[in-house]
Formats: sequence, structure tokens, C-alpha cells
Amino acid sequence: MEHQLLIYNTLSRTKEVFKPLHAPHVGMYVCGPTVYGDPHLGHARPAITFDLLFRYLKHLGYKVRYVRNITDVGHLEHDADEGEDKIAKKARLEQLEPMEVAQYYTNRYHEAMDALNVLRPSIEPQASGHIIEQIELVEEILKNGYAYESQGSVYFDVAKYNKDHHYGKLSGRNLDDVLNTSRQLDGQEEKHNPADFALWKKAQPEHIMRWPSPWSDGFPGWHCECTAMGRKYLGAHFDIHGGGIDLIFPHHECEIAQSVASQGDDMVHYWMHNNMLTVNGQKMGKSYNNFITLEELFNGTHPLLEQAYTPMTIRFFTLQAHYRSTVDFGNEALKAAEKGLARLMDAVSGLERITPAKASTVDVKSLREKCYEAMDDDLNTPIVIAHLFEGAKMVNNLLAGNDTITAEDLKELKDTFHLFCFDILGLKAEAASNAAREEAFGHVVDMLLEERAKAKANKDWTTSDKIRNELTALGFEIKDGKEGTEWKLNK
Ligand SMILES: [Zn+2]
Repeated sequence: MEHQLLIYNTLSRTKEVFKPLHAPHVGMYVCGPTVYGDPHLGHARPAITFDLLFRYLKHLGYKVRYVRNITDVGHLEHDADEGEDKIAKKARLEQLEPMEVAQYYTNRYHEAMDALNVLRPSIEPQASGHIIEQIELVEEILKNGYAYESQGSVYFDVAKYNKDHHYGKLSGRNLDDVLNTSRQLDGQEEKHNPADFALWKKAQPEHIMRWPSPWSDGFPGWHCECTAMGRKYLGAHFDIHGGGIDLIFPHHECEIAQSVASQGDDMVHYWMHNNMLTVNGQKMGKSYNNFITLEELFNGTHPLLEQAYTPMTIRFFTLQAHYRSTVDFGNEALKAAEKGLARLMDAVSGLERITPAKASTVDVKSLREKCYEAMDDDLNTPIVIAHLFEGAKMVNNLLAGNDTITAEDLKELKDTFHLFCFDILGLKAEAASNAAREEAFGHVVDMLLEERAKAKANKDWTTSDKIRNELTALGFEIKDGKEGTEWKLNK
């Protein structure tokens, strides 16, 4: 590969040259959704970030096996191994079978991701379908002395592990920090140490999601699934593990501990994390009333939204920030992204109207090179987009006749736009949003009413009545007043 792709490894805290363990094959694992609620803004960012990486690696010629799991068991309400299972709780509230809940929200997630043009992963394993693998993992850790059984549950012995290895190397926390922030909750006296985490939980009698194990009828701890399924589908050592920055601790830290405690070393070569998003400068959360589902964004139905935003506007907006920077969602910024995307798509369609000339006065080669350079620098999409906007200016100058281009250069320019806009950034042309369409139709009605006003001024009553009657027949209510004519559509 001629490209030197740099990616930021959270583990080393530096940008490293990406060298797959078994080129041209690349193994990539990304933590997927816990399927107990509608997909929301927080799901869009990791999905788009790792879709970008998946697309780019494939473009560079790698054969990528992309595994993204579905968490349908074991994710409790609180990280400290307490509270109800998120899916079991939803099933109880809605009187459904837990797998009905999981299936329904998995489908909803897929629909939203398809709308965002996020490619489906190569394998999408479910935690509940890999209980045997998770039990095997727990047995290995027990055998190696890094876990203990307590009243039918099994816990990871963090203090013992930390004597031999480094617990906290990914998050930069040390064991004392962890102990200071871990609360000893009721019912946790079965843990030796508050920092210990569950590998297997004995199910309470009312708990419906349960499986037999050597220790009890119960269910696996949340962190087990990614270690067990990553190893099953990508091997004991693989290239990339990704997820949101909020998963670094405890989830990914625990995954590292589980892999070292079971197989003796790290499974993952590069750890990648996308940053968080805020809504109007605030963390998104149900308690802040700023929790926006993707459906609400696409329909514009959330009270904080001034209009609907198309899936491509959301995708473009997300990619306008580097994946390691925070992103703030707000109406102004989203509207600006909507305009920016329209400008880019206008340039793509404008390319089709350019007539080639004998000589070029524009430099098209460097556009492709500059876009590659930015992508190779840890997927720097804001820079790629800035270069594409330069390209859009070039297109406008060519259309205006200020510059000329040969047929060969025109082909290169088209190929570059298609490659980066569609194949790599994953954008696609979509119909204008409803708001934009309504605005355009509204202008047409205004134009008709101006014609009617002119006709009236010229005492051309036939034309003015015709316009009024036909608009009325279509459902428009026309009101003539001192300030001019007002209209509304009664439909
Ligand atoms: Zn995970």
C-alpha cells in the first residue's frame, strides 16, 4: 500500500502508522448498541466514524472483517453491576418477550443506520447468542486465578490482576482512583473489592433472561461479550477496536483486563475512540430534555428543533468535525451544514454541465492528493471537506467560463468528487428537505400573487380572478388587506 495511514491509538496516546497484523486482511471490532430504545444522536456518531474508517480501509485495498455487536443481555442500568438488565426492564414495562424488545430495536437501529448510509458490518453477533463463549472466557480467567466465585456470581479480581499487570493503562486511571470513585452499593458485599466487576451474575428468581452455567443460572457480565465475540470472529489478536470515548472506562479497560487474564496478552493493536456530542452546549441526556432520537431529527418533531434535518445533513455535519473533537448539535450549525452539503452536491451535479476545452487553467491533480493526505492523517474529514469546497469553487469558475478544463482533467475532477463525497465520506444525493421544498413552493405562490396584483393594477380582472379562483380551488386561502395580500394553505 502506498498510503501511510496514521491513526490515533488511545492506548499509546499517539498517532501511529497503521500496520495490519495480517495484511491485506484487517480485523475491526466496534461496540454496537444496547437495543432497548430508539436509536438517537449518540448512536449516529460512532456508527458514522467507524463507517468512514471501514469505507476508507476498503478503498485502500484491505479486506476488512468488520464486527459490530448487538448487546441484548447483561447491560445493567448502572455500570457498577447493579440495577435491572436494560432489555429485561423494557420487556417488563411493555409486557413483551425480551427478545421481542431486542429484535424491535435492532430493526429500528438498522433502519436509522441505513438512512445515514452507514454500511452494515460483516458480522453482527448478539451477546445472547454467545453465552457458551462467554462462559468459556470466565472459566479461563478463573483457572488463571484472576477471578473468584461468590454466592453463584463470578467477579474479576482487579487488585490481584493489578499486582501482575496494569489495570488502567487505557484510561490512564490507577487502581486508587478507581477505588475512590467506586461506590459500595447495597448487595455488593459479595465483591471482595468495590473495583471488582462481574463476569457472571447469578439471576434473581424474577429475572427472565437466564442461562445455566457451572456457577448458577444467570447471565454474563456486560464486558464479557466483546472479549468473547471479538476473539471468536477476529482471532486472539486483531487490529482495531473502536467505540465512543465513554466506553474507555470501565468497558474497554475491563476488556483489556479480561483478555490479558485469560490469554496472557492484549488482543487489540489499535484502540480508537470517537469523542462525545453535546446539544446546544449541554451533555445529551433524558434528564436534560435534550435527548433527541434520530427519527425526531429526520422529522423535526423534537421541541428543540426548528426544522427537520435529513439523514445526509446529519452525516455531513458529523463529518465536518474531526472524530476526536466534540461536536455540538444546534439549529444554526445544522442549518449551516445543510447549506454546505447543498453547495457540495450542486458542484457534483454542476460537473455534468461543464464543456471540456483544449487546455486546463485549473490544477485538478492536487485536489485528490490533498484529500488523501487529510484522510491519511487520522481521518481528518474537516480538512477533506475544506478541500472539496475549494473544488466546488473551481467548478463554479469553470461553469462561469472564468477557467477552462480538458476532457481528461474533467474526468479526474469528477472521479475525485465521486470518490471522496460518495465512496469515502459516504454522502449520497437526496431529495431536498421538506422545509426547503415548502419554501420553494411558497415562493411560487408569492410570484403568482404578484402577477395577480399587477393584473389588478392594470384592471385585467379576467387574469386576477383566474389566479385567485385557481389558487382557491387548490386549497389556498387568499386574503387581501391594506398591507398587501396574505395567503395560507388549508390542507
Ligand atoms: Zn463492547
